Amino acid sequence: MVCSVLRWQNNTVQKLVIASNNPGKLREFQFLLQPLGIEVLTQAQLGIAEAEEPHNTFIENALAKARHVSRLSGLSALADDSGICVTALDGAPGVLSARYAGEPKSDQRNNEKLLHDMQGVADRRAHYYCVLVLLHHADDPQPLIAEGEWHGEIALQPSGDGGFGYDPLFWLPGLGKMSAELSRDEKHAISHRGKALRMLLEKLKVL
Ligand code: IMP
Repeated sequence: MVCSVLRWQNNTVQKLVIASNNPGKLREFQFLLQPLGIEVLTQAQLGIAEAEEPHNTFIENALAKARHVSRLSGLSALADDSGICVTALDGAPGVLSARYAGEPKSDQRNNEKLLHDMQGVADRRAHYYCVLVLLHHADDPQPLIAEGEWHGEIALQPSGDGGFGYDPLFWLPGLGKMSAELSRDEKHAISHRGKALRMLLEKLKVL
């Protein structure tokens, strides 16, 4: 899956800014996009502050992040808005996943809060969701949008030291493993972000 450029809207894309400062996401995107020959920059490298994420839906937040970074960098921008939705909590933490336990953001405190909120709850079903938005420029009227879901359960206690965020609590009954116990390749093959990125690349006709 090697190409030197992405062809898109009659333009070529050689450089993309990832509209995120989340180190876990950035590691995953660099791992996934660099083999395509695309130069992947991060908004932190360009000195761009994080965008506000005031919306109630993942797609609105992803659009806001991509537009913010594309406007300030003058480059194409790829934003990911993602989170974990727990069935018994009516979809929470949802769009608040990164800040579930408040500011400053902390994966450990988020996981502790989720375990606390799930005490005594028998229905442990949950899924990760990821939406990707690719904007050629800040006023691009036709964003490329792709999404993916990954279903599992909230474990009773954390395990594993891979991944990031809620991965130590995300139990995969079919595999008998926690998401944090998967290798990067294993996670990418089945994760919400892996699925969304494959959909995006198909739309770009890279796959
Ligand atoms: P965002 O940066 O506002 O999109 O928030 C994403 C948050 O969702 C992260 O900080 C994690 O808490 C959670 N999340 C999204 N994707 C993953 C994943 O692949 N593993 C674990 N947690 C994730």
